[in-house]
Amino acid sequence: MLGSILAGASAVGAAVAAGYQSMAPTGQWYGRTFAGLARGTKQLALTYDDGPNDAYTLRLLETLARHDVQATFFLIGRYVRQRPDLAREIVRAGHIVGNHTFTHPNLIFKTAGETRKELASCRAALEDAIGQPANLFRPPFGGRRPGTLRIAREFGLEPVMWNVTGYDWTAPPAATIEKKVESQIRGGDVILLHDGDDKQMGADRSQTVLATDHLITRYRSEAYKFVTIPQMMKDARVPGGISY
Ligand SMILES: [Zn+2]
Repeated sequence: MLGSILAGASAVGAAVAAGYQSMAPTGQWYGRTFAGLARGTKQLALTYDDGPNDAYTLRLLETLARHDVQATFFLIGRYVRQRPDLAREIVRAGHIVGNHTFTHPNLIFKTAGETRKELASCRAALEDAIGQPANLFRPPFGGRRPGTLRIAREFGLEPVMWNVTGYDWTAPPAATIEKKVESQIRGGDVILLHDGDDKQMGADRSQTVLATDHLITRYRSEAYKFVTIPQMMKDARVPGGISY
């Protein structure tokens, strides 16, 4: 009796640990995912999820252009279908786009077939909008299970996580977003921000745009270089870089 209670308790503990791990952005249990370079590297990658979003994606593009910074955008397929023009603007400005599924479900709760459908529908939306599929993939909420990354790789997608979280999805003031980011930066970071909202098009991301402006100014003054995820990945593969 006691034995089975203990066995049950430890099984629950293991399940909780696995559940946590499957959402942890830097966790590697379910396959290798890219989440930045070695600590101290003077590179930062800005990443924006859940767009395209009218009107803040364009405002963000203006801010990035003003600083001549390229970033990486993980787009939701159904929004790309609604606003293919915004997806085209992102690419035209020299930024990188990635697949963030079609409807933004937590893939932990999806079957292999459903996961494939999500990735394929987003890929089709991107191909129709910008004439090419993405090479990068970020799972919504960071949620993945053993099969998720294997399926992504079947689609030729490289999974990208993050190690710095802006906590901007509830649209706090820019200063709060900046403080959150600054407290986690250690060099070589992939910074998670949002130009959109998975629940609806049109979410106010003005504070994220403002925080972006300030963060670029601050870290440029400290000799950091802002790069895209593919640029960062390239450096991870050269001798002296870290492999992942
Ligand atoms: Zn998302």
